[in-house]
Amino acid sequence: MQRIRPGLYLLQAAAPANCYIIEGPRGWSLFDTGHPLAAPALLGEIESNGFPLAELDAIIISHGHADHAGGARALLERRRVRVLAHADDIPAIEGRPALRRGLGPRLRRIWRRLRYPYRPLAEVLPLEQGRTLRFLPLWQVLATPGHTRGSISLFQPAEKVVLCGDALDNRAGRLSVPGSRRCHDAAAARESARQLAMLDLEVLGCGHGPVVRASAGLKIQSALPPLD
Ligand SMILES: [Zn+2]
Ligand SMILES: [Zn+2]
Repeated sequence: MQRIRPGLYLLQAAAPANCYIIEGPRGWSLFDTGHPLAAPALLGEIESNGFPLAELDAIIISHGHADHAGGARALLERRRVRVLAHADDIPAIEGRPALRRGLGPRLRRIWRRLRYPYRPLAEVLPLEQGRTLRFLPLWQVLATPGHTRGSISLFQPAEKVVLCGDALDNRAGRLSVPGSRRCHDAAAARESARQLAMLDLEVLGCGHGPVVRASAGLKIQSALPPLD
């Protein structure tokens, strides 16, 4: 586990997917849960770093892919808490995905299913753009669609931090906006990245790759693809 800012920690047991602990006034919440096979290791990392599951308050899912939502079932079996995600990705998280046609998406689905034996969740609650979370009052929900229709980010203005799921990727030593192969809607993903680049930001926690710890706004601007 790495401390990123006061009350914000990166969990690494579900690598290559990042998960984050965010402390609130009454307990702590989890932003993303990794892939299902990593759930026991993730639970071990959480508890060995002094975060008792009895104080887990909520699980927020950045988007409906199995490498981000997949660990939630195992956590919920240990402690029942509310799970929140954007309404557009709730069907996928609950096991009713809107399927894209074509051979490429179909093969990717088969590959994903084999790699991440996902167990769907029941009763995921919807999050909306601009909502402040009662249990995390310093954080705001930003709709950042494109990678999936219902991708969200969490923004903490006082500490200038964004956690963005797969709206941006920081693997292979390079911050990038996901292109059409990794997107439901690549144009929307570019627009979401532009919106994030306009925030006053220092720290960026992506769903994959190391945390950007300084000048995150400038780095997102440099990663933006040129306008068509
Ligand atoms: Zn994803
Ligand atoms: Zn991912």
